[in-house]
Amino acid sequence: MNIILLGPPGAGKGTQAKFLEDRFDIVQLSTGDMLRAAVASGSALGQKAKEIMNAGRLVPDELVIRMISDRIDRPDCKNGFILDGFPRTVPQAEALDGMLAEKGLKLDHVIEMTVEDDALVERITGRYSCAKCGVGYHDLFQLPKVAGVCDNCGGAAFKRRADDNVETVETRLTQYHAQTAPILPYYRSKGVLKAVDGMAAIEDVTRQIEAVLAG
Ligand code: ADP
Ligand code: ADP
Ligand code: ZN
Repeated sequence: MNIILLGPPGAGKGTQAKFLEDRFDIVQLSTGDMLRAAVASGSALGQKAKEIMNAGRLVPDELVIRMISDRIDRPDCKNGFILDGFPRTVPQAEALDGMLAEKGLKLDHVIEMTVEDDALVERITGRYSCAKCGVGYHDLFQLPKVAGVCDNCGGAAFKRRADDNVETVETRLTQYHAQTAPILPYYRSKGVLKAVDGMAAIEDVTRQIEAVLAG
């Protein structure tokens, strides 16, 4: 099963993708995570992406398209994947169609997670994750069961993203509305788009997504 989770920054795509990975034995392909790994490694791609990401703008289409195409070819994707953060522009959506056709794959579901802008700012500025295993948390909405200890791996170190600050969030939301929202009609016209209410509690959003996938 191949899925796209679509939605603005902070909508909960990464949070839900983690549940879907376990539930359906498919892999999360987060272009944001891949780009952050490239930045951390200091690769040529990372050097190109770093300033753009810190400013909250979009990395050029050709770079992310190549990155995701290579990633889909890896053996762990054979059972299916969840695209999280890709496609983010109409050219990326068109390139995705082309590469899937070439690879003999198809899209099963495109799920839009709708969340109001004010809530997104709150979600992004409170977001942090485990430094060891990467599991996500939130200052108000998703606390570890034991304060300061990761539920998943027992790690005690946490980190925040360089771009998760109020100033950058504004740019990222503007980019979303201008560049990414136009891909919604693209998928709607193909009849594959379903929306879920991303304002609901985390478990409720999971249930809504499961209902879409079952339908
Ligand atoms: P995205 O991958 O779409 O950018 P995340 O999954 O990282 O978003 O979620 C952003 C932040 O909001 C995280 O700190 C997460 O814990 C929190 N969060 C995710 N879903 C919800 C929800 N339904 N209600 C409240 N907070 C949420
Ligand atoms: P969020 O879901 O919170 O917006 P991501 O982790 O998906 O964050 O993306 C972080 C940053 O990485 C983006 O602001 C952008 O600079 C870059 N990025 C990620 N995916 C793409 C993409 N598909 N196209 C262009 N830039 C991307
Ligand atoms: Zn952890």
